Amino acid sequence: MNLRIGYGEDSHALAEGRPLVIGGVTVPDSPLGAVAHSDGDVLLHALSDALLSVFALGDIGHYFPPSDERYKNMDSARILEYVLLELLKHTQTFQIQNLAAVITLDKPKLGSYREAIQARVAKLLDLEQQNVGITFKTSEGMATGHIQARVTVLLSAALLASNKGRG
Ligand SMILES: [Zn+2]
Repeated sequence: MNLRIGYGEDSHALAEGRPLVIGGVTVPDSPLGAVAHSDGDVLLHALSDALLSVFALGDIGHYFPPSDERYKNMDSARILEYVLLELLKHTQTFQIQNLAAVITLDKPKLGSYREAIQARVAKLLDLEQQNVGITFKTSEGMATGHIQARVTVLLSAALLASNKGRG
C-alpha cells in the first residue's frame, strides 16, 4: 500500500438569508450563510477537492460545474459520495487514514458544533471520529465577509498497474 497526501481549499462569501452548512451540519443560529450555487458547504467542498488531488483528478468544479442548474442548492454530501466513487476508478482499494481541516470564520463561534461536524464527516467517510481533526480559526476581523476551509487528507492505496509508472 502507498501512502498519498491530498490538499484542498474552499471559500464562500457570506450573506443574510443563506444557510450556514459546515461538514453536513447546519449551524442553526447563524445570521449569515454561504453564497453558493450548492449548499455552500466549504468543508465538504475542500475535502472533496483534497480527495481528488490525491490522484491528481482535478477539482469538483470540473465534475459539478456551477453553471449546471441540476446542482442548484445541492447537498454537498452527494458531491463527496461521487468523489469517493471516482477514486475507486483510479485505485483498487483505498483507506483514508486521517484528515485535518481548518475552518476560518469570525461569527458565529463554532466550538459547540465541533463534535457534530466530526461525527458527520466521520460517518460520510466511514472513519473513526478521532481521525477527523477540525480546527476553528477566526480572521481576527480581517475577513468577516467570508468563510474558508482548508483540508489535508492522508490515505493508503493499492494503485492500479497503469498508475504505477515504470520501475
Ligand atoms: Zn464551495
